[in-house]
Amino acid sequence: MDIINTHIHLIEIDKVMQEKEKDLGLLENIASFKRIQETIPLLSPETVLDQMDEAGIARGVLFACDAPILYASNEFVAQTCRKHGDRLTGFASVNPKKKDAPKVLEDAVKNLGLKGLKLHPPLQDFFPNDKEAWPLYQQAAALDIPVVFHVGSTPFGSMVKLTQANPILLDEVAIAFPDLKIVLTHLGTLWQNEAFMVVEKNPNVFIDTAAYPYEIAGLLTPELVRRIGENKVIFGTDFPMPYEGKIHRMKDYVEAINALSLSSEIKEKIFSKNFEHLFRC
Ligand SMILES: [Zn+2]
Repeated sequence: MDIINTHIHLIEIDKVMQEKEKDLGLLENIASFKRIQETIPLLSPETVLDQMDEAGIARGVLFACDAPILYASNEFVAQTCRKHGDRLTGFASVNPKKKDAPKVLEDAVKNLGLKGLKLHPPLQDFFPNDKEAWPLYQQAAALDIPVVFHVGSTPFGSMVKLTQANPILLDEVAIAFPDLKIVLTHLGTLWQNEAFMVVEKNPNVFIDTAAYPYEIAGLLTPELVRRIGENKVIFGTDFPMPYEGKIHRMKDYVEAINALSLSSEIKEKIFSKNFEHLFRC
């Protein structure tokens, strides 16, 4: 069975260090962010591919991030994916508050070959249901690409507002753009009930499994999967983010899904089929 890890980050750490020193200073005393810094040595395409091999993952989706701390440009992601075209697919990121955001997205898809859009409302400081982002969603729907939204808790302390990460805000977007394919992340990251409600009610909303591996069994019960729809859950790990004080291992996530009391057909949907369906392939 092919496994696709649909949630991977590489960060352009030199650029973050040079340009965003102020932001890093703000995070100095936050324990959960310190754990992220410990994973910085993991940030290379080679480690991503090694981890994928170790976990039996065939393909991965690498996210650009037009935001502080997690910064990765569309060009960097496109270049990395071009080098490893058989294993990695790239998703773009743009700043929805900029007027040229729809144009930048169109360029990233048509000229750089990126296949989706990743947005991080709290780190990018916008409310995803704010009409200023509407033209961007319109563009994503026209390009027929999925849009991935960070939802729920974050390790970025007073730098970010949690209100912008409430999954309920995506209900309005899902209603306004019924053709837009929306992916919520991390099984809601402690906002799971709201996230599952939005997934359950909107045919165009999906959710990825990039929660902490030890949380997955408690959240993805067979009853819950039946309720929100077995076609709505997609596999992702949020590499290289650590969990429970541990270094990120993609294989822990694969094992967490394999351990669920779900049929092998449903697991296959979670591991690859549901995501492939998002691309109609
Ligand atoms: Zn992530």
